[in-house]
Amino acid sequence: MHFRRRILVTGGAGFLGSHLCERLVALGHDVLCADNFFTGTKDNVVGLLDQPNFELLRHDVTFPLYVEVDEIYNLACPASPIHYQHDPVQTTKTSVHGAINMLGLAKRTGARIFQASTSEVYGDPQVHPQTEDYWGHVNPVGERSCYDEGKRCAETLFFDYHRQHHLQVKVARIFNTYGPNMHPNDGRVVSNFIMQALRGDPITIFGDGSQTRSFCFVDDLVDGFLALMDSGDEVTGPVNLGNPNEFTITELAEKILSMTHSKSKLITSPLPSDDPLQRQPDISKAKALLNWEPRVQLEEGLGKTIEYFQRMC
Ligand code: NAD
Ligand code: UDP
Repeated sequence: MHFRRRILVTGGAGFLGSHLCERLVALGHDVLCADNFFTGTKDNVVGLLDQPNFELLRHDVTFPLYVEVDEIYNLACPASPIHYQHDPVQTTKTSVHGAINMLGLAKRTGARIFQASTSEVYGDPQVHPQTEDYWGHVNPVGERSCYDEGKRCAETLFFDYHRQHHLQVKVARIFNTYGPNMHPNDGRVVSNFIMQALRGDPITIFGDGSQTRSFCFVDDLVDGFLALMDSGDEVTGPVNLGNPNEFTITELAEKILSMTHSKSKLITSPLPSDDPLQRQPDISKAKALLNWEPRVQLEEGLGKTIEYFQRMC
């Protein structure tokens, strides 16, 4: 980073957005955080509110926004299945109308624009690990479709604005990421299991627990965001960002139980529909183009996350 930039972060009061805002403020940039507080909270950015180079705006990205900025990180969108399925029409609107509004803003201001896309664009993948040239295996009419197809359409819009209007776009496909500032009721697996273990409640394994995910610690991911935004104009993505170390959900539960010294029992319930059976990023592209790879291994990252939730309990 060589000069002070005006940077908009949509969804900036959420889990990932709050870490990104913190990093950008520390680097000395002027940061405007826009959020409708659907799943994010002011608490996540309360430590930044007295910084002169940080501003918090209540705004829903499905409506246009008129501000002057040099860069946009478009993160606004609920990421946890229970939250994005709560109002699926709004989820699609957030991804699609939100992308159109933010791309329009980028077009008017000439800003570089980053899109927080997702491994969900691969659906329940038939290629393993997932490479960026895999087009995916996605149900267009299921309960996860509002999120998966919304994000796929947003990617289409980003690349059409790039081809048609020559916007500088940066599309990251983010794989499961965890860390402090996840909401205790977020509903995703890492926060659920840690909260259940700390409270001594049963650990809810969906399905038989043999499905896999690859978990990335948030600090590594934010490094990847900055590396992608700062890459040359020719690097548009999509680029996978995630930690390739893959675990079954049962392995994750057992690790969390042992790290928290919890006596919680494991219980099972049916696997939600269209829940992907395996997921692991191929990050060769990120390594080659961005010189990026994750450094924090699961145990270290879980340790920091458990500490965070212990302070909350
Ligand atoms: P999160 O739910 O904690 O944060 C999302 C933020 O967006 C929240 O602060 C929420 O209030 C805000 N938001 C939602 N709808 C909005 C709207 N219409 N207008 C303005 N703000 C709105 O989730 P997160 O994990 O921080 O995810 C951030 C982004 O990264 C999302 O776009 C998500 O799809 C993407 N992503 C995250 C992961 C992950 O593992 N964390 C994986 C893949 C993709
Ligand atoms: N999961 C689980 N118990 C929970 C929450 C999630 O077994 O309490 C499983 C879920 O079915 C999925 C995996 O953990 O197979 C990851 O779920 P999450 O919602 O974190 O993310 P995503 O499915 O979007 O990757």
